[in-house]
Amino acid sequence: MPQQADIAIIGAGAAGLAAAIFAAETNSSLRIVLLDGAKTIGAKILISGGGRCNVTNQKVTASDFHGNRKIIDRILRRFNELATIQWFDSLGVSLHTEITGKLFPVSNKARSILDALLDRCQQLSMTLLTQHHVQSIIHHEPGFSIQHSQGILQARQVIMATGGRSLPKTGSNGSGWALIQHLGHTITSTSPALVPLVLDASFFHSALSGISHEVILTTRVNNHITDRRTGSLLWTHFGVSGPVVLDASRFWVQATEQSQDVQLLLNCFPQYSHKEIDNWFIQAASLPGRQTVQSLLAERLPTRVATHLSQFLEPGISHTPVNLLQKNVRNTLIHTLTNLPLPVIGSRGWNFAEVTAGGVPLKEINPSTMESKTVPGLYLIGEMLDCDGRIGGFNFQWAWATGYLAGSNAALQFPSTM
Ligand SMILES: Cc1cc2nc3c(=O)[nH]c(=O)nc-3n(C[C@H](O)[C@H](O)[C@H](O)COP(=O)(O)OP(=O)(O)OC[C@H]3O[C@@H](n4cnc5c(N)ncnc54)[C@H](O)[C@@H]3O)c2cc1C
Repeated sequence: MPQQADIAIIGAGAAGLAAAIFAAETNSSLRIVLLDGAKTIGAKILISGGGRCNVTNQKVTASDFHGNRKIIDRILRRFNELATIQWFDSLGVSLHTEITGKLFPVSNKARSILDALLDRCQQLSMTLLTQHHVQSIIHHEPGFSIQHSQGILQARQVIMATGGRSLPKTGSNGSGWALIQHLGHTITSTSPALVPLVLDASFFHSALSGISHEVILTTRVNNHITDRRTGSLLWTHFGVSGPVVLDASRFWVQATEQSQDVQLLLNCFPQYSHKEIDNWFIQAASLPGRQTVQSLLAERLPTRVATHLSQFLEPGISHTPVNLLQKNVRNTLIHTLTNLPLPVIGSRGWNFAEVTAGGVPLKEINPSTMESKTVPGLYLIGEMLDCDGRIGGFNFQWAWATGYLAGSNAALQFPSTM
């Protein structure tokens, strides 16, 4: 077991592995040691993107993230989505772009991404230590003493890549924040993000489990719209999931944690205005055949959604012929169909969250290098920072970009052997 390192990287997830590779490529003579508390490396990469790993997006901008967007923009510019594509190509992994803009390995297997990263680490002869949980870091000029579960490592520079708290069984349990708080950093309040939401059991969601369709979701906090987005909603046995819910979840979770009044409103007809829906009802009413509300809704919604939604709206209305609806009833019905409050009672929490909202404020690092402004020689990267992206490969892009900056800049602090 090495007792000395030029650069110690704590956490061998996406950001830590990227940092290690870029550090070694910048200066091949450095002793680079990666320490990870987990038994095996890369659990989160392997399960990401449904086992396919959504590596990046065809267009990544700061507006795809929450946090200090000015600083996020500066970081992303230094290692953008094209750099990611070229980098993976250099590692032997071709990526392909899906219609949604998401990029995946051509193999459609997350394992290709993890294997390419680990193979490169091996080629670059760095030391990767699993089951080395770091318990404390002491800063002393000119370096650090890292106390871990198997002893002590002395390092000249330290890159912290311990992630947030999402999916703690993978090893990312928030313990890294305590380590750097002792070194003088602060942590904002943190909450699960990109997380499915649980609905009250009296709602009709469980009857729709497995169905997904396009909707608009609006989050109202204290009667103000804080977020509105269109996308696919997935009904589940516990409530709702799917990209639009995952992206909206952080607003509901944060407002609830701050004891604010929050409502999530569902619009099942994202392509149509109130007027267009009204005309649709009027036209249907003018046709012979006495079409019911339920059967009309089924023209534009999955049948099971039309059935349960119309039964929920008002007893008896689902089987009412549309030509018998009074104007005011029709208006109320359309208003409800486009503004249905979802009875959210909670999120599924850290065990189901894809990322962490909150973390180390970006103002505490130098965005050109990811070096701490508080502790020289300490670098902070990846999900442990106060930056979270939406669904679509943005969080990995953040991990690669911050890993690139920290790894290459930490390595530049040592004299070149070339
Ligand atoms: C189910 C799921 C699917 C996802 N899918 C995607 C996707 O397709 N695309 C996308 O962009 N993002 C996705 N994400 C988010 C993405 O995986 C994360 O944002 C990214 O992995 C964060 O990388 P990281 O290196 O900062 O942290 P992590 O990957 O969390 O790595 C942190 C590492 O630090 C180690 N560690 C923690 N504390 C210590 C300690 N004290 N001592 C030693 N080691 C420690 C942990 O064991 C872990 O290996 C997904 C997340 C989840 C949970």
